[in-house]
Amino acid sequence: MAKAILLSKHDGAPRAEVRELSAQEFPPAEVRLRVEYSSLNYKDALAIVKGEPIVRQWPMVPGIDGVGVVEESSHPDLKAGQRVVLNGWGVGERHWGCLAQYAGAKADWLVPLPASLDARDAMALGTAGYTAMLCVLKLEKHGVKPSDGEVLVTGAAGGVGSIATTLLARRGFSVVASTGRTGEAPYLEKLGASRVIDRKELSERGKPLEKEKWAAVVDSVGSNTLANACASTRYGGVVAACGLAQGMDLAMTVAPFILRSVTLAGVDSVIAPLAVRRTAWQYLADEIDRELLRVISHEVGLQEAIAVAPKLLAGEVRGRTVVDVNA
Ligand code: NAP
Repeated sequence: MAKAILLSKHDGAPRAEVRELSAQEFPPAEVRLRVEYSSLNYKDALAIVKGEPIVRQWPMVPGIDGVGVVEESSHPDLKAGQRVVLNGWGVGERHWGCLAQYAGAKADWLVPLPASLDARDAMALGTAGYTAMLCVLKLEKHGVKPSDGEVLVTGAAGGVGSIATTLLARRGFSVVASTGRTGEAPYLEKLGASRVIDRKELSERGKPLEKEKWAAVVDSVGSNTLANACASTRYGGVVAACGLAQGMDLAMTVAPFILRSVTLAGVDSVIAPLAVRRTAWQYLADEIDRELLRVISHEVGLQEAIAVAPKLLAGEVRGRTVVDVNA
């Protein structure tokens, strides 16, 4: 038997509950993992609270990421006992996810956990941390250097934002953290932000071009915030866009692109190729400050994760929520 959060639909409304499931109730899979930790990402909170459009099949076990040990494998490259990370590929959306003691996966979805990263730290990072690293790599691919000027991080007190702040600061960038929770300034400065701004400065509809401020941006917020971030990015700068916490809309002009040569670079974590994932996880293992990860993350069990989900959607959860599925 294995404990899992099970999402089901009753009279059109989603219901989330912790259930004990037998091995036969889990879908068959090439690799079966004994999950150690999962985490609560924005998408998981949406799945638990709203169901659709994240949940594509019912019933569903949510959890877009997890770390665990291979228990059974019919693939020659993956042996029982190996510790691996699973995230993306529609896990927790189309395929049963990791907010459970067991999870199934295809072998080529799995990244061996770098030896220097322990299981809890892997999920303190989770999809948010791995996506933050993809954003940092995207900026550097476009040639942004610390000497180019300040880098803006939006949604800074959230999961992606917190990890992006600390990763960029560690790489020598001067980070400006935008947050709706200005009371979290000491937290953000501890992560390495050189200054903190109120997200109100970015959240209303702005002008096509604003004063040039940022050498680069990591945006997990979308909507007006992303439009304003582009409008205030310096000539030749790059904006890595990965999220939609404010909204999916984007009302702006082409002015930043055609007058300032700004690059708007999209970042996807879900179907990123395996080689990109391995690189990102290895950089995370090499660079993330373990002490700061303790500051960024807090831990809950499966039952509590259900209660945290609406708070996360309301922007009330700081940093990352690790889920100990065996608690
Ligand atoms: P999170 O922990 O909830 O962080 C989101 C943060 O956005 C909040 O903490 C808040 O930060 C800010 N925010 C919330 N509502 C806002 C609003 N109405 N206006 C402006 N800012 C608002 O979520 P997360 O896990 O970091 O994910 C962040 C976003 O990235 C989500 O949209 C998620 O779906 C997306 N994402 C995408 C990928 C990908 O593959 N592209 C991967 C991971 C995540 P402050 O309190 O600091 O303002």
